[in-house]
Amino acid sequence: MKKAIAILGSTGSIGKQCLEVVSIFPSRLRVAALATRDDIDTIVEQVKKFQPRIISVLNDEVKAKVEAKLAGAKVEIFTGAEGLLKVATAADAKMVVVAIPGSLALTAVLEAVKLKKDIALATKEVLVAAGEIFMNGVKAAGVKVFPIDSEHSAIAQCLRGEDKKTIKKIILTASGGPFLKTPAEKLVQMTAKDALKHPTWKMGPKITIDSATLMNKGFEVIEAHYLFGLDYAQIEVIIHPESIIHSMVEFVDGSIKAQLGAPDMRVPIQYALLEEERQANHWGRLDFAKVAGLTFQKPDKMKFPCLEYAYVAGKAKGTLPAILNAANEEAVNQFLKGRFNFDQIAVKIKAVMGQYQSKESPALNDILAADQAARAAAAAI
Ligand code: MG
Repeated sequence: MKKAIAILGSTGSIGKQCLEVVSIFPSRLRVAALATRDDIDTIVEQVKKFQPRIISVLNDEVKAKVEAKLAGAKVEIFTGAEGLLKVATAADAKMVVVAIPGSLALTAVLEAVKLKKDIALATKEVLVAAGEIFMNGVKAAGVKVFPIDSEHSAIAQCLRGEDKKTIKKIILTASGGPFLKTPAEKLVQMTAKDALKHPTWKMGPKITIDSATLMNKGFEVIEAHYLFGLDYAQIEVIIHPESIIHSMVEFVDGSIKAQLGAPDMRVPIQYALLEEERQANHWGRLDFAKVAGLTFQKPDKMKFPCLEYAYVAGKAKGTLPAILNAANEEAVNQFLKGRFNFDQIAVKIKAVMGQYQSKESPALNDILAADQAARAAAAAI
């Protein structure tokens, strides 16, 4: 039977690759609903090809333009936060792919979970900012969460058939980003253009900058804590520039399992959309004869302080991870606009984290309020 999916963020890098996966499994997957911000041409094309019944766009202005280009198509178009909610809760969708950056997705995703929809999760902010609330919701509703992130997909694959009690630790691999070999003192000169050259993965601008600061890996540490129920002391990060090993699990007996493959997001996306069923595809494959070598090094905490900030925020819990996330998002936005150079991203995040008291056991409203406050503070610095 065909499973209907809804995609929050269908015109971004992950969203487009999800639809590529849908295209090669037409007997398994179909599209119920799509949400974009304002990529008019792409959403119009997607509606024509995948025929969702519901779509959502940023506002009425975008809606009018999309409507004009879709005259006659049987699709309901919604806007704004209500639109995201409509897409996430589309009646026939059994799974919701969450791939919009930032905390925008939170409310919509929590509603989808309440309606017992499985979640394919690419947006890091859901677990970073609202990990406890989200996981409690998931448990209460009895839905499944499938990570769309190469590292967490790797860990999930390594854990198949294993007892979680036998995990000694997990080792998340990080490419190290474009500045791995850049001397620390040169980081003050680095601009958005320099940072957008990611060595191995093809991704959107926000996550590419997060990879350059290692904040992306920090977020993945917090995600892993919630997804796999591990203490922070059990989650390690290692730099592995080739991005061939996507992550590893070490068990109590000293045995280590790793998941390897060509760095292609469509592989973890397919694994998530097909609910961990293995199916043949035509994506690129790893040829060991062509791999020159696999190298590893410890992350440089002085050069990339954001990784440590994530451990601090994750362990503190409460609203601090949401503050970290919002401060980072604002700082990265400003960096992408050319307001300052690379080294200042971490400086701003640290300053904002120092301004706020973390609130314990927060409700969603507390998290959203902390998010707003931290964003404003980061913009003001
Ligand atoms: Mg990743």
